[in-house]
Amino acid sequence: LLKASAIHKSYGDLSVLRGVDLKVTRGECLCIVGPSGSGKSTLLRCINLLEPIESGRILFEGDDIAGAPKSRAPAVRQRIGMVFQNFELFQHLSARDNVALAPVKVKGMSRTQALERAQMLLEKVHLPDKGDAFPDELSGGQQQRVAIARALAMEPALMLYDEPTSALDPETVGEVLQVMQELAEEGRTSIVVTHEMGFARRAADRVMFMDGGLFVHEAPPADFFSPDATVPERLARFLGRLS
Ligand code: ATP
Ligand code: MG
Repeated sequence: LLKASAIHKSYGDLSVLRGVDLKVTRGECLCIVGPSGSGKSTLLRCINLLEPIESGRILFEGDDIAGAPKSRAPAVRQRIGMVFQNFELFQHLSARDNVALAPVKVKGMSRTQALERAQMLLEKVHLPDKGDAFPDELSGGQQQRVAIARALAMEPALMLYDEPTSALDPETVGEVLQVMQELAEEGRTSIVVTHEMGFARRAADRVMFMDGGLFVHEAPPADFFSPDATVPERLARFLGRLS
């Protein structure tokens, strides 16, 4: 579904992505972990065409999206949903309207149909009764689930999550991870940047470790987290195995 090769990206003199290769197949849940500043968010933003890359290729559904003219970015973003750390819901719209907005505006769906589908999606994220609530009337975990429903409303082929639970109160983290895991189990393709190792262990098909703008290790979760596996020293330290 997605194949990125030799992605380079810098901000000024700072080289943030230094030749990243990444492949995601349909139905896969890929978790990316790594220290702060290693380039995880930047990579997601490049895949979503929110940032231009300097060199490399990003093939998505067979198209070279990074090489395509800028005018195609909106069409690509319809196929790639993104969920951010801080939800970024429209504050002046109800939960249902947040979810229904893009299908009406971008896909030209009728408002009645979009609202019906929004209700369905809110049920999917376990918020059947919150359609009329505004973001400031919802907990962080509820808002993040609305944000997930909003991304799903465009029926994306790929979902990107950038630390979706790191801004949440601990008691609402679980409900968001639960929804993400259900979606992964349904076979929705996702790339999840997270510090939730428990989630990676449970839900990921593959875990990749990024350090200094490169992937330095990847393995299925059972191996990735196995205390017996031989891993790079940097990862061992990250996992707290060395002091
Ligand atoms: P975290 O776990 O803290 O979210 P990250 O792995 O997501 O870290 P990035 O946000 O991708 O890291 O940032 C990688 C590096 O690029 C950092 O050194 C950061 O300061 C720098 N950086 C990110 N965005 C910009 C920008 N818009 N302009 C300049 N530098 C940036
Ligand atoms: Mg980040």
